[in-house]
Amino acid sequence: MSFTPRTPWQDRSVVVTGGTRGIGRGIAELFARQGAAVALTGRDAEAAGKVADDLARTTGGRVCGLGVDLRDPEAIEAMAAAVERRHGHLDVLCANAGIFPEKPLREMTAADIDEVLQVNLRGSMLAVRACLPAMERAGHGRIVLTSSITGPTTGFPGWSHYGASKAGQLGFLRGAALELAPHRITVNAVLPGNIRTEGLDAMGEDYLRQMTASIPLGRLGGTADIAQAALFLASDEAAFITGQTLTIDGGQTLPESLDALTTTG
Ligand code: NAP
Repeated sequence: MSFTPRTPWQDRSVVVTGGTRGIGRGIAELFARQGAAVALTGRDAEAAGKVADDLARTTGGRVCGLGVDLRDPEAIEAMAAAVERRHGHLDVLCANAGIFPEKPLREMTAADIDEVLQVNLRGSMLAVRACLPAMERAGHGRIVLTSSITGPTTGFPGWSHYGASKAGQLGFLRGAALELAPHRITVNAVLPGNIRTEGLDAMGEDYLRQMTASIPLGRLGGTADIAQAALFLASDEAAFITGQTLTIDGGQTLPESLDALTTTG
């Protein structure tokens, strides 16, 4: 049996959207620690640059920051071109940026729906499309979407538009994985449960307590829990995995009933 040698991360160029904080920052940090050239994005170029400088300092890695609003198709195209120009190639896209504003269905306006779908669903689709030419030139590619358990697996009152956007990402993923397989580009998704980030903290203490109590492993996730999964799906070792999802939720979606949870341990 023969094994294809693993490409060192030093030879990989990675884009992480929504890398200025939370899960995206954790992903960018892990890739930088491995030695990859990392471009992280946020809406504001200066803020993204500051985070990139911080990560470059703490990891000793190569990190740059770009200002890209995922509602702007031209900015997304420019992002992919800038990364390829800067690194010479583009191998991995972690389409991670997302928003999760709470809005009960009765109060939801067309504008509320548009915004969530525009950033979470259309934004990740456009980011994938923008990176394709560079990946095709490289002769390979890895795309890792950050979806969620909310939508694909569970529901939560107040987040129906969010759930629709996250489930929509998986419909996109399956079609894209098929289209891109001939180009040796894989498309997979991580489905985080409740992960301690600035965005999650903003939901308030009650929410955090309620969520912690519903996780069999007894804690909220950390950004590194998601980053490790993204790193694996972006690696050479995951070359034969495409169109798949990986749930990382501490077992939160396992219990069939409240009893199943409370009798744990
Ligand atoms: P977060 O802390 O709120 O960070 C969100 C990131 O997205 C920031 O870097 C932000 O950058 C960027 N962003 C927001 N709006 C944007 C826009 N219009 N254009 C470009 N970038 C934009 O969120 P998080 O908790 O890390 O979540 C990251 C991803 O994981 C999201 O897709 C979310 O749905 C998913 N997720 C999170 C959890 C969780 O428990 N935390 C669970 C399941 C799924 P700037 O503010 O600098 O623009």
